Amino acid sequence: MAKTNNDACAFCGRSGKEVGILVSGISGSICDLCAIQAYEIVTENAPSKKTTGDFGLNHKLPKPEGIKAFLDQYVIGQDDAKRYISVSVYNHYKRLKQKVTTDDVEIEKSNIIMVGATGTGKTLLARTIAKLLHVPFAIVDATVLTEAGYVGEDIESILARLLQAADYNVEAAQRGIVFIDEIDKIARKGDNPSITRDVSGEGVQQGLLKLLEGSLVNVPPQGGRKHPEQKMIAVDTKNILFICGGAFDGIEKKIAQRLNTRVVGYVSGKEGNLDRNNLMKYIMPSDLKSYGLIPEIIGRLPILTYLNPLDKTALRNILTEPKNSIIKQYIKLFEMDSIKLSFDDDVYEYIVEKAMEFKLGARGLRSIVETVMMDAMYSLPSKKVAELNVTLEYAKEKFERSDTNRLQIA
Ligand code: ADP
Repeated sequence: MAKTNNDACAFCGRSGKEVGILVSGISGSICDLCAIQAYEIVTENAPSKKTTGDFGLNHKLPKPEGIKAFLDQYVIGQDDAKRYISVSVYNHYKRLKQKVTTDDVEIEKSNIIMVGATGTGKTLLARTIAKLLHVPFAIVDATVLTEAGYVGEDIESILARLLQAADYNVEAAQRGIVFIDEIDKIARKGDNPSITRDVSGEGVQQGLLKLLEGSLVNVPPQGGRKHPEQKMIAVDTKNILFICGGAFDGIEKKIAQRLNTRVVGYVSGKEGNLDRNNLMKYIMPSDLKSYGLIPEIIGRLPILTYLNPLDKTALRNILTEPKNSIIKQYIKLFEMDSIKLSFDDDVYEYIVEKAMEFKLGARGLRSIVETVMMDAMYSLPSKKVAELNVTLEYAKEKFERSDTNRLQIA
């Protein structure tokens, strides 16, 4: 019921005269602007499947440039990774839509592996892609996986997570995306391929291979360990897109070794063109092999891309630029208490400096902002304050007074 009387919006406080439309509820009203904002919050935070109910089947797929433009709204920098992912996701879904044809050309799946330091946006990229595609999406941590028969989670638990994300709609799960984090942690320890009982290494990789290759896997619906009476659900992994991510600490050394052997002896310039501060960008499948991934796994992850370390400019942009940037989130939080929150520019620089010290990529940013804002978030809601401008002095005082060693890094 739309009204034009003098009632005020219960969210922003504006009167009926100040807003376009005021919609009355049982115990208050909401204006058109707040309704739109509320809608945006709900759709932004709702699991992707809830917004369509079709798990992506009837969703129009953007072209690679469109996919990248979407990623740009949420992820700062990382252009190479974004391009690779855009193309491979686009091809993946073209492949799904491919009608049975008479010719023998069958497009093969292109799983992705992203290499880059912690907190540079690997998970964020995978999450954002899933948001765009409206397909079931699951994140699993490779460190918890063990070979069947050992303590830990079986490989099948990966699919159990995906099934859960798909509300146990097997068909939807079979078109989903799985992000396997910390894939580097299941690398073979040491260079000796003959180690036969490498519980968390090669054995797990062999198990994973089965999923990546595309096979029919019996999944215990509740995840965890299998037991004999449990009813299994058969899931075909042929069309599931696997995106793997890992920091691969120390892989730069392997890259450098490889590059040196190639560069040495060549006449001028070649080495000069190398970006020695970011060797990751020269990564090749053979480096993953030297690091301890088995060739079969590498072969099943044909799209290899890297993420750049985040420099000051990137961190600064991450604070304020993405659609749901950390700073925008805090401004919104305060807005809900009718407090106008703003920051002086040098506060951003300060936060970035501190984040660089922690060496946790963008992960440190949120904890630092949280520490700076904690006192205000505690006391201002119960005070009649209309505005808070965070100055450098204020930020320093709040941050330095806190015990930075206890910082909870998200
Ligand atoms: P990774 O998976 O590489 O360890 P995440 O994707 O989990 O890192 O990033 C941690 C947090 O840092 C994210 O929630 C996000 O807020 C922020 N972040 C990291 N990299 C970026 C980026 N390139 N652009 C925007 N935000 C980023």
